Amino acid sequence: MKTIIEPFRIKSVEPIRMTTRAEREEKLRDTHYNLFGLRSEDVLIDLLTDSGTGAMSSQQWAAMMRGDESYAGSPSFERFKAAIQNLMPFEHIIPVHQGRAAEAILFSILGGKGRNIPNNTHFDTTRGNIEASGAMAHDLVIDEGRDPASLHPFKGNMDLAKLHEYMCEKGDSVPCVMTTITNNAGGGQPVSLENIQATAKIAHEFGKPFIIDGCRFAENAWFIKQREPGQADRSISDIVRDCFACADGMTMSAKKDGFANIGGWLALNDGDLADRARNRLIQTEGFPTYGGLAGRDLEAIAQGLTEIVDEEYLRYRIRTNEYIITKLDALGLPVVKPAGGHAVFIDARQWLSHIDPLGFPGQALACGLYKTGGIRSCEIGSVMFGRQPNGQEIPAAMELVRLAFPRRTYTQSHADYIIEVFGEIAEEKQSYRGFRIAWEADTMRHFSCRFEPLK
Ligand SMILES: *Cc1c(COP(=O)(O)O)cnc(C)c1O
Repeated sequence: MKTIIEPFRIKSVEPIRMTTRAEREEKLRDTHYNLFGLRSEDVLIDLLTDSGTGAMSSQQWAAMMRGDESYAGSPSFERFKAAIQNLMPFEHIIPVHQGRAAEAILFSILGGKGRNIPNNTHFDTTRGNIEASGAMAHDLVIDEGRDPASLHPFKGNMDLAKLHEYMCEKGDSVPCVMTTITNNAGGGQPVSLENIQATAKIAHEFGKPFIIDGCRFAENAWFIKQREPGQADRSISDIVRDCFACADGMTMSAKKDGFANIGGWLALNDGDLADRARNRLIQTEGFPTYGGLAGRDLEAIAQGLTEIVDEEYLRYRIRTNEYIITKLDALGLPVVKPAGGHAVFIDARQWLSHIDPLGFPGQALACGLYKTGGIRSCEIGSVMFGRQPNGQEIPAAMELVRLAFPRRTYTQSHADYIIEVFGEIAEEKQSYRGFRIAWEADTMRHFSCRFEPLK
């Protein structure tokens, strides 16, 4: 059959509230044009993030009842650990309340002044945690990954020549080499298995641990199966196992491909490092058999990990993005191609080319989507990455707007509505103006900064 249907039926629903354009304009003024400040009741379709916003299955809700809330030695932890080790063969599994807690623990040990940490592209919380430790974070993605129009099948790949040069130059100050799958900040783009293995090889040549930020490991494996020679007939689980077999550790947000609303883990092979991480965990998150989580959360994740590698689910998941991108492309929108895993990305620098990059064209488009259609999206550009540790403003490599899709939450008619909203915006985009930032926090300013519209 040509029609790819949502591979589930709906058992429980959440009503969404319609609002008028005038109401939405008022909400924008009230929140200083920062969409993180909106109440979710005032959002019609919430594509701010795919993090923790998905729908759990009936099996996950059932598993939560089995959650054992013992402080130490809970069997829920054993099930959590076994579900992870079934896919990612690491020795030590350390539960945390979400991905950034794993990062904070890891870089409290591996970070510090004078250290340098390469990645294909650091996610914003990863960069934030590295920089907060005093270390420097560097992005070494291939050039195609910075070109929204490039059709390279693995735009998240690490530039291996650049990494090798980097290691020759800075190797002594590098505590670990990282790769993020899929590459979130760079467009939700996949990393090939071959590239993951080659990156591990370089790290190991220089005697450094290789750590995978694995937040979207299942989506990445789906792309490997579809696009990498020799992988088409392999199961998603086998591909996932290969991706992690060459790594020495991983950080994970279970709010992504853990199919859960909260949770994450840090996994390590090195016993010494794991002991230090557990000590830190006890200080900041909790005892090592629950981290920052309830026993029922551990159960939801354990069950989620068995569902996320389902091919019918992944086919529907990735198809949603392709469907929207194809239609937006036909409308003449500059979309990041090919479709990434969890989100549709619009190149706002090109679509709103009359707005200077440091006037934040991505923020202008994100506000336009809310004003016109009640859709909440997220700027991934100079608001998020423009300010340097020394206070200087440098335009980001790309000015993207991300429409991130919660897992198993919206249907095709929601997608059709989103496409229609873009059509409306196309009619009036020349009247859009940029923004200036009137107030900002010291780190990760995009969550709370206040904007003022430029005249
Ligand atoms: C979400 C995310 C994180 C951080 O995880 P949280 O659960 O939000 O703290 C780290 N890396 C990537 C690639 C992510 O997408």
